[in-house]
Amino acid sequence: MSVRNEKCANCDAAIGKLEQAYVWQDRVVCEACHRNLQDHPTPTIEVPPPLRGPPPLRGPPPPRTPGVPVCLACGGPMDKSKVHEGSSLLAGCALLVIGLAVCAVGAIIWPLLLVGVPCIIVSLFMGGHRRPVWKCRACGAIINRA
Ligand SMILES: [Zn+2]
Ligand SMILES: [Zn+2]
Repeated sequence: MSVRNEKCANCDAAIGKLEQAYVWQDRVVCEACHRNLQDHPTPTIEVPPPLRGPPPLRGPPPPRTPGVPVCLACGGPMDKSKVHEGSSLLAGCALLVIGLAVCAVGAIIWPLLLVGVPCIIVSLFMGGHRRPVWKCRACGAIINRA
């Protein structure tokens, strides 16, 4: 005759022969524990929230074209660009108007053409003066290109 000598897996209390053993999740437990366990089911193992990894990378950096600088502000590629020198553009326009006016008068008083034509030529150079720069595609930062 086998003596049942089971212990409660939960509270370690011996379960007597006459006591009813219960099985809770493949473990033998006493009646009291079984009741408690049913009232308060073992909480499911808390899965820790996924660890916040480092912020996703913005993908591999674009292949660098030799000779093309990278934006100091955002690291983006830069395109060849040109910017107008605003003040000289205005001055060039003014000079162009003056030159045309002088030439118009020069049609009558021809020596004025000697003044008017150079004015127009100079104004075209001034008006067309553009500064070569590298311009960032992403943030628009500009660095000198010479
Ligand atoms: Zn128990
Ligand atoms: Zn940038």
